[in-house]
Amino acid sequence: MSSAEAFYASIRAEVDAIRDAGLYKRERIIATPQGATIRTADGREVINLCANNYLGLSSHPKVMEAAHAALRTHGYGMSSVRFICGTQDVHKELEARLASFLGTEDTILYGSAFDANGGLFETLLGPEDAVISDELNHASIIDGIRLSKARRYRYKHNDLDDLRAQLEQADVEGARFKLVFSDGVFSMDGTVARLDEIRKICDDHGALLGIDECHATGFMGKRGRGTHEARGVFGKIDIITGTLGKALGGASGGFTAARKEVVELLRQRSRPYLFSNTVAPAIVGGSIAVLDLLEASTELRDRLEQNTKFFRDGIVKLGYDIKPGDHPIVPIMVYDAEKAQKLADRLLELGVYVVGFFYPVVPKGQARIRVQMSAIHDESTLRPALDAFAQAGRELGLIP
Ligand SMILES: *Cc1c(COP(=O)(O)O)cnc(C)c1O
Repeated sequence: MSSAEAFYASIRAEVDAIRDAGLYKRERIIATPQGATIRTADGREVINLCANNYLGLSSHPKVMEAAHAALRTHGYGMSSVRFICGTQDVHKELEARLASFLGTEDTILYGSAFDANGGLFETLLGPEDAVISDELNHASIIDGIRLSKARRYRYKHNDLDDLRAQLEQADVEGARFKLVFSDGVFSMDGTVARLDEIRKICDDHGALLGIDECHATGFMGKRGRGTHEARGVFGKIDIITGTLGKALGGASGGFTAARKEVVELLRQRSRPYLFSNTVAPAIVGGSIAVLDLLEASTELRDRLEQNTKFFRDGIVKLGYDIKPGDHPIVPIMVYDAEKAQKLADRLLELGVYVVGFFYPVVPKGQARIRVQMSAIHDESTLRPALDAFAQAGRELGLIP
């Protein structure tokens, strides 16, 4: 066998092993725009409970019209990175608008939040510095930290005593600058970081605080500004990374919001910014329209909050275990991986699109259905969804 053939055989064996372990991810094909209901490729209309479309903006007429308008006035693509010839007036406008929305001095756009995190730590921290990271932080934060030369400390998830201990360790080991970094909201459990307490701990230790707001920007807090607003520390976070690909319209793109000098250095040195294409004009135009909507009214985040309460109450009344909280991510605990998959399959047959999560995405024995609420839902979709959960749960013996 040639070495190239051996290579392909080894790749096939690895894919087979994923399939044999029951961990193969199948992608269901959707034939419509994102919405409260969607049509799958086999022609069925189903209620959609698994998108990050928290505010229902993915197909909002005003957002789509603004994207169309930007397409007409600014073209389809810029064929350039930002510093060569990829910066338009709308890019600067969106950066200023995001900074003002998030309560920071400036913002820099990236092709994705994955890139924002990927280009953050290496640029800002050197080998004499320390980054102290929650152990359940998103993969892009973990990878971003790996790319940097900073000393790495991990604290147990949401464990502030351990955070203090790690900060003290970093001090003992002579760290110059310390950056604590956490998801604002953790996507598997919907856990909201205790940023008020974390901010205080950081201040006690002279540490900077950064958060990833991908599951928060647009709806957490009374004005939807994010976890920092929800936890009473708006304007007190050093670095905020986030995405345009979830609540803020759901297309793609990411950003880092911070003090002027931080953003300035990122523009000079951050590799995913320097060496990857500018965000498409249509997305930039759509995102500005999203901020117009969210700054004019809190109606969408208020409706999301009501829907979340309605669904959480309903599912608990049915007898399901959920992770408590008030985030629109509702983890419905099944514990057993096979049952979680069966429940998801049965729900799809009953017209509700949800996805089962199991090891290695969540710890062993913690399999679940992760439901996500959206402002586009109302009782006309949420009641039938709860009815389907009732029927499928009884059939599978998960609820009385
Ligand atoms: C979704 C997500 C990302 C990645 O966002 P993209 O813009 O799609 O790259 C990063 N961090 C967290 C916490 C996320 O949930």
